[in-house]
Amino acid sequence: MAQMGRAAVMTSADGRIEMREYPLPDVAEGCILAKVNCCTICGSDVHSWAGSRPVPLPIILGHEIVGTIVRCGPGVSHDCNDTPLRVGDRITWTLMDSCGRCYYCRIAGLPMKCRHLKKYGHDSCGQPPHFLGGFSEYCYITPGTCCFKLPDNLPDEVAAPANCALSTVIAAWEAVGLSPFENVLIQGAGALGIYGAALARHYGCNRIIVSDILDHRLDFIKNFGVTDLLNTNDMNQEEIIDQIQAVTEGKGVDCILESAGIPDLIPLGLKCLRKGGRYAEVGCVFPRAQFQSDAFDLVSKMITVKGVHNYDARHLHKAVHFLHATQDRFPFHKIITHRIQLEDVATGLNIAKSGEAIRVAVIP
Ligand SMILES: [Zn+2]
Repeated sequence: MAQMGRAAVMTSADGRIEMREYPLPDVAEGCILAKVNCCTICGSDVHSWAGSRPVPLPIILGHEIVGTIVRCGPGVSHDCNDTPLRVGDRITWTLMDSCGRCYYCRIAGLPMKCRHLKKYGHDSCGQPPHFLGGFSEYCYITPGTCCFKLPDNLPDEVAAPANCALSTVIAAWEAVGLSPFENVLIQGAGALGIYGAALARHYGCNRIIVSDILDHRLDFIKNFGVTDLLNTNDMNQEEIIDQIQAVTEGKGVDCILESAGIPDLIPLGLKCLRKGGRYAEVGCVFPRAQFQSDAFDLVSKMITVKGVHNYDARHLHKAVHFLHATQDRFPFHKIITHRIQLEDVATGLNIAKSGEAIRVAVIP
């Protein structure tokens, strides 16, 4: 009988999750079977589970994964950093598999929008190879994915959010061309905001302002290079803008990262930018995120708005390097505030949804 692996499977649109067993697949050419060491719960997993965006059923959610190679298919020899890969190596991998041949992969430079895109934790597990998400004992990695061997001293829990939260923020700062000595506002002190602040500090930014409405989140993020904390809970729009002006010589910030996923933060952010400022929108990863804005703010202030959804392999490459280089400087290990077992994924999703956790780790 084939060897089996267990997974926490979402089986209905109302978020029912049950444990299922599937046979481990044969490993085809260019593919890898990894044992999942750790998978952190991303905000988008919560959106999928809570029904705010449609997903194919049944599905194994989870895409912020670190695993250990248990089988390599023929032709697997090196990772995307040209490092040899062997059974027993710990790896992270891009959350998407792109074909490398279509218009978006080859011409537009947007492999995350590949015409044949597959994403871990986003596709149905109903058919073999089944193991396509992180809330599982195993994950089957297909050839259009970019893998990276992890440095020995980079812990699983530190590395897990690299392939979604951290890589996305690296892509976002790149998209708006964040430069040394600039002033930034980060709207939202969750995991994306934490990485956004640490990166801005690492890149040599000047004022790194973070806004949120939860004191415990602001208290946590101050260890990640932040210079100014703004609890906007009891502030009106004018007070927020005044505060930003006060710490930026009356100009407003150069760049903003919206990572809270609250569409109404966008028009407010446009008013907090300096003339010629750049706005990176990454938080609203669900449909019908409506906002109302004055286009005159865009025109008269010559503002650039960039939507950033996922990332390219080079951003994950940088993410691993960044964590490795700065893990002694920033307390990334504390981002995992809760640990749960595979059987308790529903509990973990509830904790993540409540806002009580920074990141919940599922340890199969
Ligand atoms: Zn994610």
